[in-house]
Amino acid sequence: MSAKVSRTVLKTSTSGDRRAECNPQKYDDGTFEIDHVIASSHGGLTRASNLCLACFSCNFYKAVNLSGVDPQTGKVIRLFDPRRQNWKRHFRWNGAILVGKTQIGRATIQVLRINLPIRVALRQSLIDIGVFPSSDG
Ligand SMILES: [Zn+2]
Repeated sequence: MSAKVSRTVLKTSTSGDRRAECNPQKYDDGTFEIDHVIASSHGGLTRASNLCLACFSCNFYKAVNLSGVDPQTGKVIRLFDPRRQNWKRHFRWNGAILVGKTQIGRATIQVLRINLPIRVALRQSLIDIGVFPSSDG
């Protein structure tokens, strides 16, 4: 990945709307990674429009997946694309739990294991010290 692409992704990521946000980066022990929205194994290109900043856990569980199963409907649904879709349309916080508002949100939470107990516990500890939002507002 070129330095120019990396800088572009990081610049847009810090604006808050180009990442699959599950933890504030500065409180996450793991390294945030630049992830392909469409994995290169599926033909995704290494350019800013196909890259987003993701924490290690989200990137690990997403792997090369493009879709998941909505646990509510059982339908196969394409995963959330932080480059092209609005986070607030598909997700909301209920305390430390991320809630999927749509099929895309629910399938993405499931595949990325965003509500694993250890991840919820981390977010709850951040809420407890006042550095993580516990609601959409
Ligand atoms: Zn994450």
